[in-house]
Amino acid sequence: MDKEREGCIFCKIVNKTIESQILYEDDEIIAFKDIKPQAPVHILIIPKIHIEKISDINSDNSNLITKMIVVANKIAKDNNLDNEGYRLVFNCGEAAGQEVFHIHLHLLGGRKFGWPPG
Ligand code: 5GP
Ligand code: ZN
Repeated sequence: MDKEREGCIFCKIVNKTIESQILYEDDEIIAFKDIKPQAPVHILIIPKIHIEKISDINSDNSNLITKMIVVANKIAKDNNLDNEGYRLVFNCGEAAGQEVFHIHLHLLGGRKFGWPPG
């Protein structure tokens, strides 16, 4: 596993120095419950390696994003969200509301969502 990026809360979750409710884990990806859920189901899916933003994704590392979406779809199905629908969100940068600078995919479900987003 890559070394923890100093001060990164999600690297600490990966390395289990901070507790979280983990729902899925493999060599490259981990998924855990958001500490401040914005919907009945609110899960974060992250790569274990520290990548700051979705804008750092390129053709060399994009396979990680595909894997994260596959994990999100599996968790959505496990939560019976596949029929009613769910939202997958990447916030990229401060204007978009990114607060933790370690890429994470939000899986949100269990309620109706508005559009456009706030
Ligand atoms: P962002 O705004 O960066 O897209 O989303 C960061 C998310 O991480 C927020 O929804 C926030 O509630 C969640 N979060 C921040 N710190 C922690 C933590 O220590 N544990 C967990 N499980 N979630 C966290
Ligand atoms: Zn990190």
